Amino acid sequence: MPPFECPNCTVGRLVIKKENESWKTPHHEAQAYQELELDHIMGGRYHAFMVCQHANCGEVVSVIGDYLTEHLLLGRDRWDNPIVENDTNITPRAMMPAPHIIKVSPELSAVARNHLVRSFELFWVDIGSCANRIRIFLEAVLDQLGVIREMQRPDGTAYVLNLFQRVNELGAVKPGHEEALHALREVGNVGSHEGDAAVDDVLDCYELLEATLEELLEDKKAKLAAKAAAIRARKGRPAP
Ligand SMILES: [Zn+2]
Repeated sequence: MPPFECPNCTVGRLVIKKENESWKTPHHEAQAYQELELDHIMGGRYHAFMVCQHANCGEVVSVIGDYLTEHLLLGRDRWDNPIVENDTNITPRAMMPAPHIIKVSPELSAVARNHLVRSFELFWVDIGSCANRIRIFLEAVLDQLGVIREMQRPDGTAYVLNLFQRVNELGAVKPGHEEALHALREVGNVGSHEGDAAVDDVLDCYELLEATLEELLEDKKAKLAAKAAAIRARKGRPAP
């Protein structure tokens, strides 16, 4: 398992010690390997605690999943005993609290933040639900940015805007992010309606989200432009 970043302090790394790992093979699974004459393979359930190494944090994350170990015969020693190496793969099925996949901007509203953190948990449990939660998160970010949810028809009756229309509404005020937001919306739609999404697409979505949120919420470009303008105003001399 890679050294995930701690979801509590976001500074420390999460480490698994051997004494915090458990492995168990269900009888039916052991029997199945035996029947298939796969003597070199063993698998089953796995759980562990990952502990944050930051001195003032020490967060504990529970991991559950499946494991598969392949016993590889590398050769024989001089007493003709087999030299075996174990190659183990762990597939996490849940992590709680889940490590952050992207930076959680401090500028996010509490509602939006909650949806984003839930999406990190769902990433391990069900990728389609994760994509769906990203879509809900996007609606919450649009709320935060003041994008309207309802409009009025010429006859005065109200109608609810769908996410496609809301992304376009944002584009009218803050252009330049429509392409990224529509891509997120589309992956979210597949997650919502077909119940599945590609892991790579979801990871790409997170990457797009991180960059887009920095622009939309933290005005990164505008802040950098202001810094550049301040330096130029001083003609490069140190600020008094
Ligand atoms: Zn920590």
